[in-house]
Amino acid sequence: MDFSTSRELADIRVAVREACGAFPPTYWRDLEPDRYPEEFVQAMTAAGWLSCLIPTEYGGAGLGVTEASAILEEINASGGNGAACHAQMYVMGTILRHGSDEQKRRWLPQIADGSMRLQAFGITEPTAGSDTTHIQTVAERTAEGFVVRGQKVFTSRALQSDLMLLLARTAPLETVDRSTEGLSVFLVDLREAGDAVVIRPLATMMNHATTEVFIDGLRLSADALIGREGAGWRAILDAMNAERILIASECVGDGRWFVEKASRYASDRVVFGKPIGANQGVQFPIARAHGAVEAAALVRDKAAWLFDRGEPCGAEANMAKLLASEASWQAANACLDAHGGWGFARDYDVERKFRETRLYMTAPVANNLILAHLGHHVLGMPRSY
Ligand SMILES: Cc1cc2nc3c(=O)[nH]c(=O)nc-3n(C[C@H](O)[C@H](O)[C@H](O)COP(=O)(O)OP(=O)(O)OC[C@H]3O[C@@H](n4cnc5c(N)ncnc54)[C@H](O)[C@@H]3O)c2cc1C
Repeated sequence: MDFSTSRELADIRVAVREACGAFPPTYWRDLEPDRYPEEFVQAMTAAGWLSCLIPTEYGGAGLGVTEASAILEEINASGGNGAACHAQMYVMGTILRHGSDEQKRRWLPQIADGSMRLQAFGITEPTAGSDTTHIQTVAERTAEGFVVRGQKVFTSRALQSDLMLLLARTAPLETVDRSTEGLSVFLVDLREAGDAVVIRPLATMMNHATTEVFIDGLRLSADALIGREGAGWRAILDAMNAERILIASECVGDGRWFVEKASRYASDRVVFGKPIGANQGVQFPIARAHGAVEAAALVRDKAAWLFDRGEPCGAEANMAKLLASEASWQAANACLDAHGGWGFARDYDVERKFRETRLYMTAPVANNLILAHLGHHVLGMPRSY
């Protein structure tokens, strides 16, 4: 076992931290309630951080999920919010692993140089919710390709994306042996969709650029299909492992931000003649959260290591997301408590980060569903669904 950090990884962390220095907490605060951090995303794109997972032959940096994790972690640990740009890193993984050579040559270089944004991933639907195989968006075969009808909800960054990866049913549920069959993944060029796709912003408790997407009679050519028709479930599962590891990394970054902010404030703030952090009622929750965040970071590191070696990592990726989202929420509460009333004041950024990090208990997959995955698939217990 080797827990040392490579020189390259350490350099990446320092460089990302420096880049984030141009976007202090006031920048993120002033974007609220709903302005997209366009300047930040452009700076990250120009520096090449968002194309780190794209192989060098397609113009990316050819790095792994380990490095991508460090990038997102540092963004969140600096007080920012990697959610604005994380999908541009990993959604392309479905094209990379399941697309044809022609699709890779056509799209990946444009995504790598930032001229094309692929950062919308349309899976969730209002009726199916977490039960993804029961989605109702349908893509029917035509002579030229497919025609799509349906509705997606919580499709984040669709208004800031040129392309959207879309999951749709190409074979009715009643005609397939298993519910995971008959689903297909499409790459939708939103610039050419016209009136067939209507995107409406969906306001949430934090600044997240999420939307509802209404699709009615969208015509797609056959080459919009990524991978085999009916085999879309496999294609999105691969993308989901990367997503879970990267979300875990944002949580680790958030957790470290909360712990650092809380311990500094608790050391400085004097009440009853001594720093509040000298009281174990204040100190121990912060110390406990620190332990939880660092433990989650180790599971995240293992998941990323497995992913980068091409080994199965479903259990570790899920556990990393579960543990890191719980740890960052624990740290968020310890930080809010330590700040007393000031934790609720906008100028301290605690309440903003508190709202932002809470999302990850629910999205991109609810922690209950992760527990069910571990219970069913890893521990072999009876299925609840
Ligand atoms: C800000 C935001 C951004 C998002 N971005 C995207 C995106 O870009 N693309 C996308 O496709 N989706 C996105 N999502 C959707 C997100 O992935 C879903 O909200 C999430 O998967 C839960 O689905 P749901 O909201 O329908 O909840 P439901 O499935 O209705 O679940 C509601 C509650 O019931 C629990 N539950 C449901 N079934 C079970 C069960 N069998 N056992 C135990 N508990 C259960 C869940 O844990 C949850 O707590 C986003 C969501 C938010 C809030």
